[in-house]
Amino acid sequence: MTQAQLSIRQLSKRFKTGDGVSDITLDVQPGEMVTLLGPSGCGKTTVLRSIGGFLEPDSGDILIRGQSVLKLPPEKRPTAMVFQSYNLWPHMTVYDNLAFGLHIRKHKKAHIQRAVTDALELVQLAPAARKYPSELSGGQQQRVALARALLLEPDVLLLDEPFSALDAKLRMEMREELRDIQMRTGMTMVFVTHDQEEALSISDRIVVMHAGQIEQLSTPQDIYDRPSSLFVASFIGRINLLPAVSDGARIRLQSLELEPQSGQALLPGQCTIAVRPEDVYLTDEPHSLAGMIRQVMVLGHYAEISVVCDEQIIKMFVPREQAVHLLSGQTVRIGLRKFTAFPERPEGITVSHTAASEVA
Ligand code: ATP
Repeated sequence: MTQAQLSIRQLSKRFKTGDGVSDITLDVQPGEMVTLLGPSGCGKTTVLRSIGGFLEPDSGDILIRGQSVLKLPPEKRPTAMVFQSYNLWPHMTVYDNLAFGLHIRKHKKAHIQRAVTDALELVQLAPAARKYPSELSGGQQQRVALARALLLEPDVLLLDEPFSALDAKLRMEMREELRDIQMRTGMTMVFVTHDQEEALSISDRIVVMHAGQIEQLSTPQDIYDRPSSLFVASFIGRINLLPAVSDGARIRLQSLELEPQSGQALLPGQCTIAVRPEDVYLTDEPHSLAGMIRQVMVLGHYAEISVVCDEQIIKMFVPREQAVHLLSGQTVRIGLRKFTAFPERPEGITVSHTAASEVA
């Protein structure tokens, strides 16, 4: 097995306020892009800053290529960090902003020239070399910050919500560009975001964090299709959370009897069915839920349909062509293609389902 590029071992850090992270263990493989994802305050930045050396953990270890880096100050660690605020020198040109770190490291002038030019080409900013940061757009400034970090050739590049100051369209372009750069350079990256769409689109693996701990660590596909907890199910993507009851063998959801899907053993009692809107479909089958359409919302190439079934709003996505035949007030039957059952009811987490009575 190849040695992990970055190993975090039972990392804990508690602030005076009692907040922090505990028992974080994670291996990042060479060339991998791992995203730390979670709601505000869950501890993502604390983990990232500990890797970069800006925070001293209470316990645990951080190894890069097998060597502990805990005793090293940030500038001696084989890491580089890209921040949300670009942190460029305003009085220096783009070229000088990039060259500065290499001058400090006493690289030869010819090497600096070549490295800076290559880095600017990588982020498609070669023509802006002589400009000042104030003459660039936010996206361009962030590309300079990225080039500056890449230029240091870190063993692990750390990115702390680097695109959150950019507008939605630019953010999407930057994601694609970063992924492209990562593929081309083979650089190992740890990326922090609270934006689940960003995490799903950019990562090889995602670490979902909740209240200072790792809730699930897996591929984007697996996290989306097989969330390990109600928290992950409700945090990642749109989902209906529907109260149901299990008798230990089968699950009753309103008038429907459901077989638990693979690996979902439930004890008798209350439970929750989590089903994505794309896994709800219109049907004529008798084994289905009867409901009434409350709202049809066309969103580009698809439509979001809200159906009220036994006081519960269930959201479904249908293709736009199908939606033109649907009207609010119409009675329909719906089936569930795929769902996950959890042995608890959502409490203390934001859920994306709504009881009909709450919005009436
Ligand atoms: P965000 O997405 O808002 O940046 P985060 O997931 O990165 O959040 P952290 O910044 O790691 O969260 O913070 C985790 C918890 O520790 C939060 O409750 C935060 O208020 C607290 N915290 C972070 N830094 C400090 C500090 N220096 N002193 C005291 N508490 C802190």
